[in-house]
Parts: sequence; C-alpha cells; structure tokens
Amino acid sequence: MGLSIIVPCYDEQEALPFFMDAIDKVSSQSQLAGMDLEIIFVDDGSTDHTLELLKALARTDQRVRYTAFSRNFGKEAALYAGLQRARGDLVAVMDADLQDPPSLLPDMCRAVEREGVDVAAARRVDRKGEPWLRSFFARLFYRLINRMTDVEMMDGARDFRVMSRRYVDALLGLREYNRFSKGLFSWVGFKTKWFPYANTERVAGHTKWSFWSLFRYSIEGIVAFTTAPLVLSSCVGLLLCLLAFIAVVVIVVRKLLFGDPVDGWASLASLITFLGGCQMFFLGIIGQYMAKMYLEVKGRPVYIVAEESAEGTGRAVADGQDGSEDGSLFKVQDIGR
Ligand code: UDP
Ligand code: MG
Repeated sequence: MGLSIIVPCYDEQEALPFFMDAIDKVSSQSQLAGMDLEIIFVDDGSTDHTLELLKALARTDQRVRYTAFSRNFGKEAALYAGLQRARGDLVAVMDADLQDPPSLLPDMCRAVEREGVDVAAARRVDRKGEPWLRSFFARLFYRLINRMTDVEMMDGARDFRVMSRRYVDALLGLREYNRFSKGLFSWVGFKTKWFPYANTERVAGHTKWSFWSLFRYSIEGIVAFTTAPLVLSSCVGLLLCLLAFIAVVVIVVRKLLFGDPVDGWASLASLITFLGGCQMFFLGIIGQYMAKMYLEVKGRPVYIVAEESAEGTGRAVADGQDGSEDGSLFKVQDIGR
C-alpha cells in the first residue's frame, strides 16, 4: 500500500519543521510504518524561504517531492497539482500548519483501507479561537449553500482527508477552472466517514485568509455549485411585475371613483431607486455567472509550474543541471482540454 500526502504550502517556513516532525512521529509508530509513504509539497508561490526548505528536505529525504508554482495560484490550484502527482493507493491532503492533526491519519487510513469507505474526512466540532464574526458568517454560509445546492457541505469540514484511488481519479476527472474543492469533494459522491476533532490553532506563522478573501471564496462556492440566485432574480422580477400591475389597477380605480389626482414625487422617487437597485443587484448576480463562464471558456491552465523535483528522487529538475528535456525553466501544466 502506498500513501501520498499532499501538502499545499504558502509562506510556511516557520511551520514546516514542526510538520515534518509530526509526520515522522506518526509514520514510525503506527501501522503507517508498513506503508510506502510519499509527501508531495506544493509551494504556492511562497515569498519566504519555503522553497529552499523544501529543496533541502527533498535532498535528504527520499519520501519528499516538491512542485513549485511560478506565482501564488491559491490553495485550490495547489491541491489539484498535488492530486495529479500523487501515486499512492491512498491519497491524503493536509495543511502545513498542523491544524489538521496528523494523529488522526492512521485511523483515517484504516477506514479507507479496511472499512470499505472511499473517503475519511476530518471535521472540526467547534470553532474555538476563531473570531465570532467569522464563525457567524461561516455558519450562515453553510446554511445557505446547503439549502441552495444539491450537494451537501458539512459545516466544519476541512480539506483534511484520506481518499481512495478511484475517488481521486473521479476528482481529477472534473476539469473545471474554478475549483471549489469543498463542493467538488461532495459532488463526486462515494461513502464518507467523518472524523470529528476539536479545533487546534496554527503551530506557527499566520493564516492567509482575511475576512474579505473568505467572503469572496464563499461567493465563488455558491456560483460554482448552484444557479439558485438566477432563479431568485427571476422570481423577484416576476413578483415586482405583479405588484406593479396591482398598483396600476388600484390607481385607475381610485381615479375613476374618487377623481384623485396622482400626487407625491417622493414615493415615486423612492420606487424608482428601489427598482433600480433591484435591477443592478440581479445584473450583478448574472454578471458573476458570466464572469465564471468567461474564465472557463478561456481555458487557461489552473497553475504554472516553475520547478519540481525529478520523478521519484528529490533532485531538482529545473536547476538546469539535469532532468528537464528542453532545459526550459517553465513548464505549463495543461488541464487537459
Ligand atoms: N495555502 C496555499 N495557498 C494560498 C493560501 C494558503 O497553498 O494561497 C495553504 C497554506 O500554506 C496552508 C493551507 O493552505 O497549508 C491552509 O491555509 P491557512 O492555514 O492560511 O488557512 P486556514 O487554516 O486559516 O483556513
Ligand atoms: Mg491553517
């Protein structure tokens, strides 16, 4: 049995030594010891010394492979690159900051190996140490998205999971550019076993997610997995038409019965602003879908690799000394269109 662990890294020089320590501990003491282990680090355009660290690791540790992007492409792209490169029968995804406790790994592997499930996924049961505003919006997001979409997204589910080979192949079969992993994971299906655990804080370094970036990410998730907002816009449009029709009837009847002159510019002005606002809002929603389509249609690669370790060994390919056939530093990884 081979186990591949994929670790996306973005400015993780402080956390990496702790991470390797933890992996060493868990892989030597448990039933992971009998497994063929490979650790695939994906450096997502770090600006600190993460890449140097990874190269040094790959030189000394046969299990370590790395892939470095030409710039920051985001965690989703890093996950995708890792999945494409994983060769194990079991594939694990873990953060570098030890917020995904490696102590769960043996049990998760056992579940996939022996219990007939295809995914063992970790789920935080609390949000201790998180700002309350962030927790509030996170909960709201999960409630919203679960109501609007067919796929179920578990509140507190992290990307930390162990997957079977056929599950990974199914994931790789989804070739979209806008990759919202949380949704893709559940869209693919198969049986999932959940492993609850208490939230842990980052071991070192700091989170890359601001409130604003999380907000944008949640919009991305909604747009990627449901067209419910478009239906909503049609419904609201229809409702307003109906209201307008009733208003016209009321005004005409009132005029005929009581001869009331229509007066009041204030009510008119607020009505026009209200309707203008509605139109802009729904145009914006349609625009979101258009923008996503535009990005998909362009068919750009999900990421660009600047350099990576040679297959199977920890040696660098793009150092110009060996490996790359054309000696070129850049290799475009197409998503297979
Ligand atoms: N990460 C990444 N690219 C990014 C942002 C984050 O590869 O643009 C990695 C990061 O190095 C870490 C994981 O994704 O291993 C989770 O990031 P972080 O801890 O900042 O997120 P949080 O745990 O706060 O959700
Ligand atoms: Mg983290």
